Amino acid sequence: VNRERLLTSSIPALFDIVFPRFCLGCGDGLLETRRTWLCPRCLARIEPLGMAHCPVCAADLGAGAAVSACSSCLGLRPNFTAAVAVGKYDGLLRELVPRLKFGREGRLAWPLAELLHETLILHPRYPEIDAIVPVPLTLRRRVTRGFNQAELIAEEVARRTGLPLLRTAMRRVRRVPPQVSLSRTDRLRSPIRTMSCRDLPQALAPALRRLPEKIGELLGHRLQSPVGDRTVLLVDDVMTTGATLKEATRALLAAGAREVFVGAVARA
Ligand SMILES: [Zn+2]
Ligand SMILES: [Zn+2]
Repeated sequence: VNRERLLTSSIPALFDIVFPRFCLGCGDGLLETRRTWLCPRCLARIEPLGMAHCPVCAADLGAGAAVSACSSCLGLRPNFTAAVAVGKYDGLLRELVPRLKFGREGRLAWPLAELLHETLILHPRYPEIDAIVPVPLTLRRRVTRGFNQAELIAEEVARRTGLPLLRTAMRRVRRVPPQVSLSRTDRLRSPIRTMSCRDLPQALAPALRRLPEKIGELLGHRLQSPVGDRTVLLVDDVMTTGATLKEATRALLAAGAREVFVGAVARA
């Protein structure tokens, strides 16, 4: 044993010898980097969105695009204000997200949330965000998977930002389209999944108004949706068409959210 070398090594280096840290991407040692979770080689495999991406929905605009937003956002602006993503759903992100989701490697939420947080704070309107809501899973999927990957990521982002995580503000509801023209089998085959926010039941509002002002106010506040009058960051693992995120945004805005930003780890 080279005692001199051991004695001159810094405390962090000693810490690494006692508790070796390994890259969560490839398993290599992390002694040479100040990063906590991923080695430089793995980080280099993140496919950035690039300069030419839609500032609203983060979709790729293609090289040398001269338009200010993608054709679908120009046609009909989404209800969320802007979507932020770490990179394309490719390379490293296409390995880590499925490992978190299907391989049940919950610890992968740490580096993914760290990357998302680093991307988020670069957005000029980031300081306005004052609450975080994860995109909910259907109850069935939640039960079979045992966890919600979006929630794991949102939890870590919330910890880093210090913003409140409104874990149960929203849930999925299964709603059959009301068209009577559809046959029964068609209706059963194509249920539209929608989101719903916990909110003050409409029927209760008149009853609250009859109570003494202070009590009614207090009760109303208690029963009201926690997203009311907040600028919400809606967190998901992968943003694909954005349909789910638009539906979740609709529910948040309906429950009184001021504005909704989307934060996804990857943009497909
Ligand atoms: Zn690595
Ligand atoms: Zn767009």
